[in-house]
Amino acid sequence: MKPKSILLLGSIALDTIKTKYGEEADLIGGSATYAMLSSSLFTKVNLVGIIGDDFPDKGKEILKNSCNSIKDLIIEKGKTFRWGGEYHENGDDRKTLFTDLGVFENFSPQLSSENSNPDFIFLANIHPELQLSVLNQCKSNPFVITDTMNLWIDTAGDSLEKVLRLTDLLLINQSEVYDLTKIKNVELSIKKIFEMGPKKVLVKYGSKGSTIYDIDGTVFSVGVVDIPKVIDPTGAGDSYGGGLLSGLAEGLTIKDSMFRGTVMASFCIEDFGIKSIYNLNIDKVNERMKTLRKAEEYV
Ligand code: AMP
Repeated sequence: MKPKSILLLGSIALDTIKTKYGEEADLIGGSATYAMLSSSLFTKVNLVGIIGDDFPDKGKEILKNSCNSIKDLIIEKGKTFRWGGEYHENGDDRKTLFTDLGVFENFSPQLSSENSNPDFIFLANIHPELQLSVLNQCKSNPFVITDTMNLWIDTAGDSLEKVLRLTDLLLINQSEVYDLTKIKNVELSIKKIFEMGPKKVLVKYGSKGSTIYDIDGTVFSVGVVDIPKVIDPTGAGDSYGGGLLSGLAEGLTIKDSMFRGTVMASFCIEDFGIKSIYNLNIDKVNERMKTLRKAEEYV
């Protein structure tokens, strides 16, 4: 069977991260980078994004080797998008220390003809106007997975609504569900999101796992792999998304794709930045998949 063509849009960043285990600056990161690496062990994606001419050569090599195509990756004169974050003692909550848009400021993604007919699109966290622009350039009728964050719900709600109209599966954190719908009751808020467009809503509950709500009434939850030392939670959601995406693109069930997403997120948080997810191999993933399935009694 012909492999599915997957388009991934998101941020490619240089991150500065402070956790109780230390501080590291200018780490290769970004929502697209984590999602792309997580998917790449199984299925390589076609990347749409932008970096500045200060992006390290090592990073460029990683993008080139881990993607199916970087034809729509722009390398622009100027500074790469930079983000700084600091985690609280509990490890789950964080505050943004700074955001330097750099080359993001004038980013206008243009899809090449090769990338205009994807089977799947993953719109990782990025400004919804950019998500919309990429969706509008697609000539095919892809399965659309969308991720977002509080910032866009608060500052770009109108554009986000347009993206949601075209979304099949929305990936969202628990706190963002309430931000988006202004409804505290889970069932009612999910119903409201269905009315906005998505047919599936996957809610991420951080260290408590994730639940998928399908418009057909199906609900399914997965816990987490217990990681004794969470060094850096950055990118966990994106790694989950990348794992999920690769599973769906391979034709796995949503449950199996959620297991894969959960396992990929568990690796991501074991070290700073992309280190642990970049150094992964399939045997380690399979081993952890077995452990998770057993814990969930889904064998
Ligand atoms: P996550 O921990 O899954 O929320 O993802 C963290 C990644 O998102 C980091 O690598 C950041 O570079 C990236 N990020 C943070 N803020 C933004 C933003 N406003 N737009 C796009 N990407 C962002």
